[in-house]
Amino acid sequence: MTRASPAPQRIASAVARINRISTIRVRLTLWYVLLLAIILVGFSAVLYILLDNGLDNQTDKDLQTAAEQVKGGVAQQGGQLIVQRTEGESELTPLGERGVLARVISLDGKIIESVGPFSTLPVPRGSLDAASHGQTSFDQVDTSDGTPVRLYTVPYQENGQVYGFIEVGQSLKPSQETLQTLLLVLAVVVPGTLVLASAGGWFLGMRALSPIDRITQSARRISAEDLAQRLNLDLPNDEVGRLAATFDAMLGRLEAAFERQRRFTADASHELRTPLTIMKGDIGVALNRPRSSSEYQEVLAGLDEEVDRLTRLVEDLLLLARADTARPLLYTQPLDLRDLLVKVVEQISPLSGARGQMIEMTVPVSIPVQGDPDKLVRLFFNLLDNAVKYTQCGGRISVRVVHTEPASVQVEIADNGPGMSADELAHIFDRFYRADTSRALSTGGAGLGLSIALWIAEAHGGRISAQSEPGRGSTFSVWLPAAQAS
Ligand code: ADP
Repeated sequence: MTRASPAPQRIASAVARINRISTIRVRLTLWYVLLLAIILVGFSAVLYILLDNGLDNQTDKDLQTAAEQVKGGVAQQGGQLIVQRTEGESELTPLGERGVLARVISLDGKIIESVGPFSTLPVPRGSLDAASHGQTSFDQVDTSDGTPVRLYTVPYQENGQVYGFIEVGQSLKPSQETLQTLLLVLAVVVPGTLVLASAGGWFLGMRALSPIDRITQSARRISAEDLAQRLNLDLPNDEVGRLAATFDAMLGRLEAAFERQRRFTADASHELRTPLTIMKGDIGVALNRPRSSSEYQEVLAGLDEEVDRLTRLVEDLLLLARADTARPLLYTQPLDLRDLLVKVVEQISPLSGARGQMIEMTVPVSIPVQGDPDKLVRLFFNLLDNAVKYTQCGGRISVRVVHTEPASVQVEIADNGPGMSADELAHIFDRFYRADTSRALSTGGAGLGLSIALWIAEAHGGRISAQSEPGRGSTFSVWLPAAQAS
């Protein structure tokens, strides 16, 4: 014989089974039905118990009322109980007509009078004993045909003396029938509700989750090569709608990142190819026929220059590629921006001197900042290098710390060079952008200097802006956070 497992164990194994199912829709529906089943069964049990108790209490109250009625129709004469009569009719008759058993019993247990059904039921001895001591008691007995009957036995007392007993009884069959009807109704209503609820749950789950299926199908169609595609699902602005919109926005960002990466690789290859082509050409010409050692030296010097250019370019590319990763690249320390600017101007002065340009510095005695010295040198070198490169010979360049306040330091690098149009200005911080190709090519830049400067400023928590007009020079402003006073 197998023993049924207890309810909590059965619920736990049902839960485990539900969790193994791989569609949310089925899982949701099963969860819903399981919870509803627990609630309905609990509710039914409470309802049944409450009704059962209520019916029992009502029966007992009816019996107590009946016993009082019998008492009213009984009197004691010479120590014997007699049933009073009106026009020959026993006072107990109405009770019997209502289907209530009413018996008047003498002290020695003889039935003096009995009305109503179940008159053949034996008198419960124990209850008579209790009644002879002045106590009342309830009994439940079955008749020979199995009908349950509730009996109530009370003593008949006058001045504290017991003269006999009164017993009333009532069939419990109507109560049991009521309970059975309730059970029947519950047995139909509970499973019916569960079936309806599971259908409803299934339908609701399907409605709520079908957009997710659509998202899955659309997302499956989008491949890495095809990032221009969007889900473009026309969904309401609810959780699922927002998921689809977020997915589309993410695709947009991915597409832009992929495109940036693709352009970066293409531009980088292009930039690397130019010096390599020049070098290959120079080597080819040199190898064309035997050359004197001075000619070879000349070619090697040219190659050396190209290799320098290539090295600079590769370093720039490496820095930008690293900048694109999330890893921090700064090694910051407290430093004096004035010293740093003086150093950069010294580095650039051979170039500016060769072009007959003057660099004017207006910088306070000391400007403490927190920063990565190598990166900041690179930033200001790039800006000054541009100013020198793009300003005509004999031009004027200035480096000024124009505004210092507790929170930030502003460095301005201005020149009176050719300037730039608004259109050019909008792109100068883009990678590989050169404002004027002929001008920039002749000076040898790859269009990475300002992107690097911008990245360095932003990595320090600062920013750069440029102001320029054609023929009126250019001004680059760099804001850096000042060092916190300790
Ligand atoms: P490059 O390596 O070509 O100098 P940058 O990113 O440093 O690249 O600058 C981008 C473009 O902005 C340059 O090609 C140049 O045309 C323009 N530019 C930058 N600085 C100046 C300046 N001070 N005056 C005029 N044009 C400038």
